[in-house]
Amino acid sequence: MKLKFVFALGLSMAMLSAQAQLPQPDVEKVRGGDLTIQPVNHATMVLSYHKKNIYIDPTGGAEAFKGLAAPDMIVVTDIHGDHFDPKTIQAINTGKATLVVPQAVADKFPPEMDKGKVVILKNGDSKTLEGISIEAIPMYNLPEAADAFHTKGRGNGYVLTIGDKRIYISGDTEDIAEMRALKNIDFAFVCMNLPYTMDVTQAAQGVLAFRPKVIYPYHYRGQDVNAFKSLVNEGDKNIEVRLRSWYPAAK
Ligand code: ZN
Repeated sequence: MKLKFVFALGLSMAMLSAQAQLPQPDVEKVRGGDLTIQPVNHATMVLSYHKKNIYIDPTGGAEAFKGLAAPDMIVVTDIHGDHFDPKTIQAINTGKATLVVPQAVADKFPPEMDKGKVVILKNGDSKTLEGISIEAIPMYNLPEAADAFHTKGRGNGYVLTIGDKRIYISGDTEDIAEMRALKNIDFAFVCMNLPYTMDVTQAAQGVLAFRPKVIYPYHYRGQDVNAFKSLVNEGDKNIEVRLRSWYPAAK
């Protein structure tokens, strides 16, 4: 019996390490339970609370989510391939997830997508789903221009309220007034990469304007996140800057 158990344990640990491409998740005590924050890749993450799994900008195919529970909600910020990947959504969605998207993303859904499970939010809209409040925040480039990578009104950043915590996911943006005006953010995910969004200095200034308790730089390919951390902590040493592995070693 005992030997069998040890063998089974060894086997399951071997299986775990075979799929250990995902970084260790952060687990936070929030009202009503644990909030698990699982970075996946670049702009992609999974938040879990009370057995509800929220996939944010899922990309990378089913492979990228191996070992994680299926989504109850899929939240997409914008139309670009590093945020919206219909093939991944179709691969991971076992038919029960509600999709929360801006109209521009809904317009690109393949015809077979179940429209009954799509919730369209525009900037400023909010909605409560599965006990989680979701508010759509603008995301856009500065100065505003018709030919910008991200025009105002097309994509959504989001503030999710889970338990008693407010989680801001910037999407692709610069340090716009709407970000700077955010209040009481517990966990923030803020992008930084040129030429698509902003540089680390601008991102740090934006973050120092709304002072989240914890900031995760994400969507930062090629940027110096240690410099970002120093800039934020020079401005406010009480903001916890969490550097996580969003770009696992190339396969
Ligand atoms: Zn992007």
